[in-house]
Amino acid sequence: MQLSFESITEDPVHLFEKNNIRVSVLRLDRIHPVISGNKWFKLKYYLEDARQQHKKKIVTFGGAWSNHIVATAAACACEGFSSAGIIRGETPAVLSASLLKAQEYGMELHFTNRTDYGEKIIPAVLDHEQCYFINEGGYGKKGAKGAAGILDYCQPGFTHCCCAVGTGTMMAGLVNAVLPEQKVIGISVLKNNLEGEKQVQQLLNEEKKDWQIVHDYHFGGYAKYTDVLIQFMNEFFSSTNIPSDFVYTGKLFFAVSDMIRDGFFPPGSNLLLVHSGGLQGNSSLGKGKLIY
Ligand SMILES: *Cc1c(COP(=O)(O)O)cnc(C)c1O
Repeated sequence: MQLSFESITEDPVHLFEKNNIRVSVLRLDRIHPVISGNKWFKLKYYLEDARQQHKKKIVTFGGAWSNHIVATAAACACEGFSSAGIIRGETPAVLSASLLKAQEYGMELHFTNRTDYGEKIIPAVLDHEQCYFINEGGYGKKGAKGAAGILDYCQPGFTHCCCAVGTGTMMAGLVNAVLPEQKVIGISVLKNNLEGEKQVQQLLNEEKKDWQIVHDYHFGGYAKYTDVLIQFMNEFFSSTNIPSDFVYTGKLFFAVSDMIRDGFFPPGSNLLLVHSGGLQGNSSLGKGKLIY
């Protein structure tokens, strides 16, 4: 598996030009077709820690279409760890494309009913001594520390950095990494994400920074979508050649274009949009919806 951090580009987008606002997209999706985006960044320091503790196996949690599960499986294959995924829900008749990929990378899958999953019960077959546990979505300070490294791959002159928010780990890393005069705008992809701000806050360094989570663009909730969103993603691809995913980055690009139209950003703003990857999840949509 070849990971290509050299192929990360910062692509100017001329689609939403208004009020002399500049927009560019930081293409973390270009790192690898399946294991892309923020996940590598978020995993980096956990794997380092696991190695220092001489752990053999990485164990983490996620749903059937989790980008984090696939990325963890691949990262472990690369770095010489074995891996186990604790997957929410009963064993399905057919594995999702994401889980098949994870298995290809050598991950053992442990399906767990929703109650046990909610309580993060560890299957008895896993030997605690050997295992290093990573939270669902890589949530935690080490994840944020890794995500701060994302900004090493872009021009420093932006006024606003915009990203999608799941667990908020990436956003916290970006907030920690920006300059005091730069603002971070997170677009929540979860409905009723009442804990979102608190989850970000818990991972922040002391320094005072300007950040905000926008809650108006979840399109019905996590992994939910509408025809309007899918149409936007197709149009966005037609005009920019940038593919997005319907769970995270499609909602991010839609939100930013809408907010520019509404005058949310001051004239002259220079926006950096983080394309955090996730394209593998589009296979759950079935064929024909997206033109790419
Ligand atoms: C996981 C993921 C996110 C969310 O990152 P958090 O750190 O959990 O907020 C955003 N975009 C993509 C494509 C992802 O796969």
